[in-house]
Amino acid sequence: MSRKPLPAPTETGVLVQSRRRCCICFGLNRDTQLKAGQIAHLDQKSSNNAETNLAFLCFEHHDEYDSVSSQRKNLTIGEVKQFRTELYESINKAFTQQVHFGEITTPASDPFAGSWIRVGSGEDGAELNFTPLPDSFEGNVQYYVSGLALYGTSRPYGPNLGILEFTGELIEGCEIVYARPLREDEVTTTWLRFIDGMLEVTEENWLGAYGMNASFRGKYIKAV
Ligand SMILES: [Zn+2]
Repeated sequence: MSRKPLPAPTETGVLVQSRRRCCICFGLNRDTQLKAGQIAHLDQKSSNNAETNLAFLCFEHHDEYDSVSSQRKNLTIGEVKQFRTELYESINKAFTQQVHFGEITTPASDPFAGSWIRVGSGEDGAELNFTPLPDSFEGNVQYYVSGLALYGTSRPYGPNLGILEFTGELIEGCEIVYARPLREDEVTTTWLRFIDGMLEVTEENWLGAYGMNASFRGKYIKAV
């Protein structure tokens, strides 16, 4: 098989779009750490230097992807390409955030900022964190919202994890609405509403958009 050297602009394109993050690490584990790795030819043909055929992979995943194992089903090319799409979208989002130099000003006393803990859901705990974003102004307050929800904490092999992360605007001083993208242009909506010193979360469905069976539904109190 003839190995054509990768043209420099193509190589740069792959390295910059991936920021040297491995799309299999990201696709399987949401791992966005910088990795030592290589540019892989996804169709295993080293002569096919089309950018759609290339992905930056960590050494471990490059070996795993290239090896033919009868022990278990190998990762498919379609799967890895989907992971790559998701990684590139995520990186593009992260790297186009505005950069702040010097001091960041956030509202002085924000009643919603901080951690909120779910109550009344037994041992399947959930926590949500609200961080007001700089450049918020009256009438447009943005929060970075992140959280973790557990399902099946008492199961012998451990709980399922639900993970939520987005940036949203506070509407009418009390509500943040998040339309979470699903596959194939669908979204599922989650409402986070601050009422009477509590936080109430409603989800459109129980399909486990944030992780198998894990849900953020319920009432939360502010952690002190
Ligand atoms: Zn990897």
